Order: sequence, then C-alpha cells, then structure tokens
Amino acid sequence: MTFENSYTSALPELAITWNSDVAPSPKALIVNEAVAQSFNLDPQFLNTETGARFLLGNDVIDGCTPMALAYAGHQFGGYSPRLGDGRALLLGEILNNAGQRFDLHLKGSGRTTFSRGGDGKAAVAPMMREHIVSEAMHALGIPTTRSLAIVATGEQIARETWLPGAVLCRIASSHIRVGTFQYAAHHDDPTLVQRLADYAIDRHYPELSHVDNKYLEFFTAVAQRQASLIAQWTLVGFIHGVMNTDNMTISGETIDYGPCAFMDAFDPATVFSSIDHNGRYAFGNQPNIGQWNLARLAETLLPLFSDDKDESVAIATEVLMDFPKQYQALWDAGMSKKLGLKNAPTDLVNDLLQMLHTQSVDYTQFFRSLSSVISGDTSAARNSFINIEQYDAWESRWKELLSRESQSSADIATAVNLVNPIYIARNHLVEEALSAATEGDLNPTLALLEVLQQPFNERSGFERFAQPAPSEYKNYQTFCGT
Ligand code: AMP
Ligand code: MG
Repeated sequence: MTFENSYTSALPELAITWNSDVAPSPKALIVNEAVAQSFNLDPQFLNTETGARFLLGNDVIDGCTPMALAYAGHQFGGYSPRLGDGRALLLGEILNNAGQRFDLHLKGSGRTTFSRGGDGKAAVAPMMREHIVSEAMHALGIPTTRSLAIVATGEQIARETWLPGAVLCRIASSHIRVGTFQYAAHHDDPTLVQRLADYAIDRHYPELSHVDNKYLEFFTAVAQRQASLIAQWTLVGFIHGVMNTDNMTISGETIDYGPCAFMDAFDPATVFSSIDHNGRYAFGNQPNIGQWNLARLAETLLPLFSDDKDESVAIATEVLMDFPKQYQALWDAGMSKKLGLKNAPTDLVNDLLQMLHTQSVDYTQFFRSLSSVISGDTSAARNSFINIEQYDAWESRWKELLSRESQSSADIATAVNLVNPIYIARNHLVEEALSAATEGDLNPTLALLEVLQQPFNERSGFERFAQPAPSEYKNYQTFCGT
C-alpha cells in the first residue's frame, strides 16, 4: 500500500506529525470487506494482529507519516479557535481501485497536541455507532465517510464507568471542514486561506480550477452540495446531532457521527443529543444551521471574492440567500418522489406532515406503507393513525393526484419503494447492538449491518428490524460522552 501526503505537503501549517498510542492487545472487531477490497486491501490480513497494528498506526509502513490535523470551529454557536484532531490522526491518503483519493484516518488513537482536557481515546460503542450508521447512510445512497474497521485496543478507558477502548479507521474523501477554513483564516499567513481553497478546489471541485471567479464558484458549489446532503438527511429522517462547523465537510460528505439518530415519530423539534438543550441541531433546524455554517465559511473567503469588501459581502449574501430555496426545491422533489407524484403540491405534503406530527406517526413506516396503499391495501397506513377520518381525507386527495400520473400503479408502487426505506438504523436496534458489542458480543451488530445493507429491499425474517421502537425509547438520547 502506498501512502501519499498531498494535503499535508501543500498545507504544512495545518498538520503536525504525531504518533498513535501503542495498543496493548489490538484486535480487529470488524473489518469492512467491501471498503477494504475497494482499496485492494486484504480483509484477511486486516484481521490478523499485524493487520490490526497497521490499522492503529502502530506498525507504520514506509511513506506513512501520521499527522494530527488542525481546525477550528463553532461549537453550538461559540467559536473555538483551536480544536483539531484531539484524538485522531491522518495516516495518509490512499487511492482506491478507480484511482480516487481518500484519507485514511483514525479516531481514538491517543492524545495529541490538540487534546485539551481529553484523553484522546474512544470506547467501542460510539465507534461502532459510527460504523453502523455510516454504513446505513452509504446503503441509502447518502454521501458519507466510511468505516474501514474498528479495532479493539485491549485497553479499558475511563468514562462514566470503565469501558473497552477502540479505534475507528475511517475513509473520507478528505477531512477539510468549514472549521479548517476558519482555522486558516485566523492564521498569521494571509495566503493560507487561498492555498487551502486552491487545494480544496483541485481535490473536490477540479472542474472549477480554471473558471472565472473560481472562489465564488467554489463557495456556491459547496453550498449546493450541503443543500443536497441535508435534504437527503431530512428525507430519510436523519438527525446529525452536532452540526458544528468542524463537523461540516467541504466535500459534501456526512462526517463525525456522534449523537446522531433517525427520527421515529415525525416531529421537526426532535433532538437526540443530550447536550443540545436549545434544539439548535433539531431535525427541522438542520437546513437553517447548514446556512449558518456556510455563512461562517463565506466569512473566511470574503477577501478572495473581490478586493472590495462590500462587494464581497453582497455576492456571498446572494449565495447564502439562495441556499434555503435550493434546499426547498430538493426537499419538494424528494417528497414528490416519496409520494409517487411528479410534483406533489406543497399543501398536500404539509398537511401530511402536520398529521404525522400531531398523531405521532412513525415517519419511515408511514412512507413505506404507501406502496401497499397504491397496490390496494390501505390497512397498514390507516392503522397508524388515531384519527382515521383525517387520514382518509388526505388519502383521497393523494389518490386523486396519483390517478392523473402517466405511470401505472404497479410502476409507482415499485418506484416509491426505492426511495422509502423499510430498514433504517433505528435507535433501539443500534443501542441493542452497541450494548452487546461492549460486552464482547458482535452478533447483534453483524445482524443489523446485514439488514441495513439493503434498506429498500423487504426480506422475510427481518420483520423485527422494520418495527418502530418500543415505547420505553420515547425519550431516547445519545450522549456526547464519547
Ligand atoms: P467531536 O465532538 O468528536 O466533533 O470533537 C470535537 C473536538 O473535541 C475535536 O477537536 C476532537 O478532537 C476533540 N475530542 C473529542 N473527544 C476527545 C477525547 N476523548 N480526547 C481528546 N479530544 C477529544
Ligand atoms: Mg468532530
């Protein structure tokens, strides 16, 4: 395997050479065979002790110079000028079989110069959550970093109790974050932001390398990818949980799965993170926060837009003002697909969501039941409502519109099943898998991963995985104590 270091060579100010902690008794808990193979890595090797040491950065191979990356960030709205890889390291860049460049990055690999008060470690459960949920997102077709492997270190780490430690070995198309631009903008060297932008353009938006106003085009393109990403999240009911500016990528991939979750009953105010007291990162607030984060990115790029500050602000504002419209258009298009219509009227969608909200109906299960309604069986959809008359009235309006579509009912039923997943990473299933993994039993995790691999394809024997959470999960929270 050959490691490259294009990022840290071009931008040495944004990285510090560092070594991972040596694990006492490393063992791969999970190796992602599909990801391994796409990089021509032998899964069998990764499952050996030598393989585990390689994954931990303990046996550093030629050309590999592990680095802790620098970034800043707004966390819950408050600015931290120096966050950085406090428990993470970039092992290097590797190319997949198609020649595309990715970062190979560790999380939980020990303290670094960026650790502040933290221990630099990670427990098995939160790393496994990242593995499970990022795999679920990938299978749903949503851009995301991916997990190559989870390696148990053999160490016990101190949290509320002693917990088994682990390292996540992650693949990302890069780790350039909004927070990386914020860090660069506060650096002594005034050329750093421009060099970072040039690098990001070459790596993620090469088609913009030679256009006029390339920095404005770059900003516009990042905003477009984020509008698309957040619309894809909300259409499947995903809540990231910690949309700090350091957790938003320039590539448009979902990154840093902390207290994330899929919404059960539809409610825009849904929050899962135990530290999000004001609902800043609630389900329905995600597009607003996306725009807020992009405004922080714009601030770092203003000097590159124009020499005239007022003009720079005006053009950045224009892009930012367009963001909600773009998001809305993507949401409308996605909702239309979920309902099997070319163009679902706004009031039809809003009345449905209002009804799902007031009647606490499971978002995923309801949309999935629509294919049966189209095929003539309304029972599952109807039975999820308390006020059935209200649902019946909505259903008549919807069916009236469906009857005007040119496609056959059978084709529409098939099409809606390709956008309305039956299996999502439901909180109670993830928790069940994580508790068992902490106790050393990986079977529930493996079973859940198997189900989530094909989220749109109903399979017999997996009925339990399609069910909403039992009522004791109503007040489910995920904790940041990672
Ligand atoms: P996150 O909440 O994972 O996005 O991390 C926010 C910041 O806190 C990053 O700079 C992390 O590197 C740092 N951090 C999180 N957990 C730890 C830990 N256990 N030790 C050191 N730094 C940490
Ligand atoms: Mg983070």
